[in-house]
Amino acid sequence: WQSLMSLIGIRLADLHPESGQKIIQDFKLLDAGGKVADHEVVIGGRDYLISVTSIAEESGAIVAICVIHLDITERKRLEHQAAEANQRLEEMNTRDYLTGAYNRRYFDEFLTREMLVLGRTGGCLSVAFIDVDFFKLFNDVYGHLAGDHCLASLVKAMTGSLLRATDSLFRYGGEEFVVVMPGTDEAGAMDIAERLRMAVYDLDIPHSESSWGRVTISIGLRSIEAACAHCAMSTSEEIVKAADEALYRAKANGRNAIAFSSQVCAPEQDSPVDKLP
Ligand code: GH3
Ligand code: MG
Ligand code: MG
Repeated sequence: WQSLMSLIGIRLADLHPESGQKIIQDFKLLDAGGKVADHEVVIGGRDYLISVTSIAEESGAIVAICVIHLDITERKRLEHQAAEANQRLEEMNTRDYLTGAYNRRYFDEFLTREMLVLGRTGGCLSVAFIDVDFFKLFNDVYGHLAGDHCLASLVKAMTGSLLRATDSLFRYGGEEFVVVMPGTDEAGAMDIAERLRMAVYDLDIPHSESSWGRVTISIGLRSIEAACAHCAMSTSEEIVKAADEALYRAKANGRNAIAFSSQVCAPEQDSPVDKLP
């Protein structure tokens, strides 16, 4: 940037062709009775807020324009910092501190929202209720701290086996987790549950008190279809309850197992009204 005095008498178009063009456009706009909206530009790596106003003769003819460059670099930097801090806070609000999985509070919000989406756009949704097998005994043998580490490892392994960005893992409480799978039907949910079960099994975390000799999980599944009247009526609590009931049967089946909810939804009859043109 040259000193102010040395700029006198120099055409802006010669100094900075891009700005020269812009000024000609602004003149035209102001001449036509329009207004130039305030806008932000970056010049030489700094941010400026630009305000353009016209200077008119008594006759109304515009003879000059006044362009104010307000340096807002610092303000922008602080705004950016605040946005980053907000995002970190948001993360802390939605994540469980111990495992890094989404927390229970966010689960309630997420499932309720996905149910609304399902009602509006149709399709299906599945929920997996996951519980670590013989985890009390794990704590008893290896200690509570090892138990904490184990939970964190399980979350890492399970998260790694979820391939779709919308499939989300939540810590429901204690050693219980939930995976919500929007747009996933029964067959898809079974594949994902099997991948989750294997991901934990393959970690091969020793557990002397388990019949499998390692830490395992059991999974209960519930899938709902928007087209099914019974499903469409269910609340998020009912879906979780159904998945939990299935989990109970997976436990009874020997653990390290997967079971579907026993709730059967009768297929919806086509209403004659739907068939009208
Ligand atoms: P089951 O196979 O029937 O699920 O047996 P279980 O022992 O896992 O079931 P139970 O619900 O009786 O025990 C859960 C245990 O999980 C008890 C509790 O101490 C432990 N637990 C819950 N939250 C945490 C945690 O954050 N860290 C640790 N280390 N242990 C936890
Ligand atoms: Mg439990
Ligand atoms: Mg358990």
